[in-house]
Amino acid sequence: MNKKTSTLVGFKQHNHGDCLENAINTAEEYCIKNNLNLTPIRKKVLELLLHEHRALGAYAILAMLREQGFSNQPPVAYRALDFLVEHGFAHKIEKLNAFVACSLPGANHSPAFLICKKCNMVAETQSSPHNISFKETANATGFQIEHTIIEAQGICQSCVETNQV
Ligand SMILES: [Zn+2]
Ligand SMILES: [Zn+2]
Ligand SMILES: [Zn+2]
Repeated sequence: MNKKTSTLVGFKQHNHGDCLENAINTAEEYCIKNNLNLTPIRKKVLELLLHEHRALGAYAILAMLREQGFSNQPPVAYRALDFLVEHGFAHKIEKLNAFVACSLPGANHSPAFLICKKCNMVAETQSSPHNISFKETANATGFQIEHTIIEAQGICQSCVETNQV
């Protein structure tokens, strides 16, 4: 978990086909190893989240599922999302009340998100291990951190460029 992988997928040019395939493969392998059932709907929701590295709200996901002929019952989609979040394949972005696929599935990490408020594109990276003062303050006050998620909002490069035209 201390690997210094600085992943910044969303805003970077990359081979997204490979990226999507890797993420699905990782999820499938993880589920086999851990005796979890990656049902078609769970897999579909993961694919939808991976599709554009964009944060999607539950309603948007539901609408897409419906379009693709999946059940349009909200509980089914919510349960699939819960599953993905619980097992680290996706994260919830509290500020947007939306979900995004994890860029480091299977890794025990404290995600940090760069969120574009114009296009909802989300890039995931890891919160800096140098962020010790945060932990020290918590320790000093006896606060027990269960998980840390950093969410930074701003405007991505491509939205800045579009604005300038
Ligand atoms: Zn990608
Ligand atoms: Zn993650
Ligand atoms: Zn943007």
